[in-house]
Amino acid sequence: MSIDKGVRIDAKGRKHSGPKGREAESLRFETKLLHFGGEIDRATGASSVPIYQASTFHHEDIYQPPLHDYSRSGNPTRQALEDYIALLEGGVRGFAYASGMAAISSSFMLLSAGDHMIVTEDVYGGTYRLLTSILNRMGIESTFVDMTDLDQVKAALKPNTKAVYMETPSNPTLNITDIGAVTDWAKEHDLLTLLDNTFMTPYYQRPIEFGVDIVIHSATKFLGGHSDVLAGLAVARTEELAGRLKQLQNGLGTVLGVQDSWLLMRGMKTLGARMAHSEESAAKLAAWLQGRSDIERVYYPGLLNHPGREIHEKQSSGYGAVISFDVGSGERAKQVLNQVKLPLVAVSLGAVESILSYPAMMSHAAMGEQVRHERGITDGLLRFSVGLEDVDDLIADLDQALAGSRY
Ligand SMILES: *Cc1c(COP(=O)(O)O)cnc(C)c1O
Repeated sequence: MSIDKGVRIDAKGRKHSGPKGREAESLRFETKLLHFGGEIDRATGASSVPIYQASTFHHEDIYQPPLHDYSRSGNPTRQALEDYIALLEGGVRGFAYASGMAAISSSFMLLSAGDHMIVTEDVYGGTYRLLTSILNRMGIESTFVDMTDLDQVKAALKPNTKAVYMETPSNPTLNITDIGAVTDWAKEHDLLTLLDNTFMTPYYQRPIEFGVDIVIHSATKFLGGHSDVLAGLAVARTEELAGRLKQLQNGLGTVLGVQDSWLLMRGMKTLGARMAHSEESAAKLAAWLQGRSDIERVYYPGLLNHPGREIHEKQSSGYGAVISFDVGSGERAKQVLNQVKLPLVAVSLGAVESILSYPAMMSHAAMGEQVRHERGITDGLLRFSVGLEDVDDLIADLDQALAGSRY
């Protein structure tokens, strides 16, 4: 073991304990999760990055400022996390924010008044609200399109279009966008491409490999993985974009605190094991649901009849751990929610414990009923984020809840 592991010298000759050495980049993904360059404290050899609970840094020599001078602009604990996610996504630089929405809103600040953005119509609800009730007031307009249809994306192009925003698989009906096709087209028109990769995580999907400019996460979900930390991450594909994101993160002050940065890294180390286990259970649960005659419809990218499955397989190495299914009516959905014993009944997803949520009354409650139904978010739709419980217990629990509700 060398405590100098992963040390990188930047252009100004300063040392970073980041993962930018060729060593970390050439490792396989599962190994990168543990050996990302910041896993050992350089000064002491301690087995985790110290929590640098400091807002400011002493200038020992005024002519040679310290590497970090103020924690909004940079902090070694947050830096380790930012280098970690950049390594996992294959980008040049990462950024950590107070929440997924802080990551998304800070990234949108790359645009200016008068700019137009093309956005997937089943974008995360908070992103929709940000675009339609805040950014619209700042003169940034957006058009929402069905991104499973490239023609709709193309038709939305305007002279002032500057960016395309993707989310795949989408929430909660797991629609698939062809990342490469949309990105190639966007590049022909000099548009910035952004993608919310929360559902897949870099374990299954690395959009930068398809040319996407900025990958965004609600790290509150699978990356953190334990329903105990709220955080957001972004990764830039190019140095030019990284510089602009850095200026925005520092200027807006939307940074993640050091305790949460540490907690998030702790969660991320087990990402591979958690995703693999949950996915295996999700596949089993989805097949079981599909085999029932009292379930109207099951949405899971791993099912053979899932729309866009072939495209998904081209760009992802797995199907994830989120399943949506329609139990037939709102009345039955509520009965099931009240009768399940194992999953947390809650908003959110991507945790060690299973989480069952009810889009019509929770995440998508603000959406008009007609639009909601058009998007497949029916009154009977439930979303199951599969955790690490024994899947047979999850199935038995869901079985008793379904049996005890009226179809
Ligand atoms: C939860 C979520 C967000 C928002 O993240 P927060 O951490 O809650 O701010 C954004 N996108 C997706 C897909 C999400 O699931």
